[in-house]
Amino acid sequence: MSKEYSIETKCIQSGWKPKNGEARVLPIYQSTTFKYETSDEMGKLFDLEKEGYFYTRLQNPTNDMVAQKICELEGGVAAMLTSSGQAANYYAVFNICETGDHVIMSSTVYGGTFNLLTVTMKKMGIECTIVDPDADEETLHKAFRENTKCVVAESIANPALVVLDFEKFATVAHAHGVPLIVDNTFATPINCRPFEFGVDIVTHSTSKYMDGHAMSLGGAIVDSGNFDWTQYGDKFHGLTTPDASYHGVTYTEKFGKKAYITKATVQLMRDLGSTQSPMNAFLLNVGLETLHLRVPRHCENALKVAKWLEQNDKVAWVNYPGLESSKYYDLAKKYMQNGTCGVISFGLKGGREMCESFMDRLRLAAIVTHVADARTCVLHPASHTHRQMNDAQLKEAGVQPELIRFSVGIENADDIIADIEQALANF
Ligand SMILES: *Cc1c(COP(=O)(O)O)cnc(C)c1O
Repeated sequence: MSKEYSIETKCIQSGWKPKNGEARVLPIYQSTTFKYETSDEMGKLFDLEKEGYFYTRLQNPTNDMVAQKICELEGGVAAMLTSSGQAANYYAVFNICETGDHVIMSSTVYGGTFNLLTVTMKKMGIECTIVDPDADEETLHKAFRENTKCVVAESIANPALVVLDFEKFATVAHAHGVPLIVDNTFATPINCRPFEFGVDIVTHSTSKYMDGHAMSLGGAIVDSGNFDWTQYGDKFHGLTTPDASYHGVTYTEKFGKKAYITKATVQLMRDLGSTQSPMNAFLLNVGLETLHLRVPRHCENALKVAKWLEQNDKVAWVNYPGLESSKYYDLAKKYMQNGTCGVISFGLKGGREMCESFMDRLRLAAIVTHVADARTCVLHPASHTHRQMNDAQLKEAGVQPELIRFSVGIENADDIIADIEQALANF
């Protein structure tokens, strides 16, 4: 029903729908367990014969209402929350991969995702081939193998700010019978809904714009319901053949379009348990209620800051997909007509050293390991988030050693610019 509402209305109204006499605001079900009248009733839940709550590690009503809101914002068929964005990306891939499988990933993904796929999941026997997101279709085709199970990328890469050519990636992935998984953290569904361009699964670090206040860590996975797992049943046998740990339930048969999210919930959450706390989900929901107001303001401020930086002679380069000078301006216009994100990156003419001391001189913009929240913040990826990468890997990830990641908040843009101006003054 709420699919008919515009995205602004969904931000406020989707998810929790109180019945007569119930709390107007989403309640926090701060409870590990749920009570049943008979042993048989609870048994049916364990067999997936009935829907219901029994233990918060698997499902919790507060979390489910917030997942439902994110699902509607993205235009998907099913969604789940996770304890972090890392957990979301891990589950999204591991739900359809096992030892001996292969994944293709864009080189410019977030450093945490890069490590997850190339180091930790490699130890689990899952190989990863890195591709340049700007590569042509022919080059991308060559990365595929018999055992490739999915393609992973970001709608706007953190921090390289590469805008993904969704249609190119979706065409190639689908030609090889695998889903395209896209992390939509930076664009948010306010600016971009990847399912409209052929993406199959969307993930989020809700710790960023969705929460918006740097208060609660979290993640989400949303399924478009468009990828037909049964068409490639052998490849995705975890979804299309009986699961012995549930008395032989076959997810695609029993849950149809909800098969992927159901499997990730009842199997991966049950066994690995990266559940978001209901308290965090409640806070996330408060953030989501203003997402449609905050995101345009972030973009407006970021564009002003980016244009100011571009005019400054101490600045070597500015990278923001909303600038006409950006290599990704046209792709951004095509896929994100209302704007991209509040994050910009730039380098100073004095190189890495100047960048570091410039950051120390900022007063309003704080040095924090965070990005994409209400307060302007700044980080030097080569010294912080991407510290584990060598120079070649940094280059491949689109992270120059002097790159400053500047996350423009929703303060007054003139105050943000004045802060940058004073920090640049004495060089
Ligand atoms: C921060 C981030 C993550 C990781 O999310 P956490 O919530 O910090 O675990 C994943 N992807 C992107 C694009 C991010 O910005």
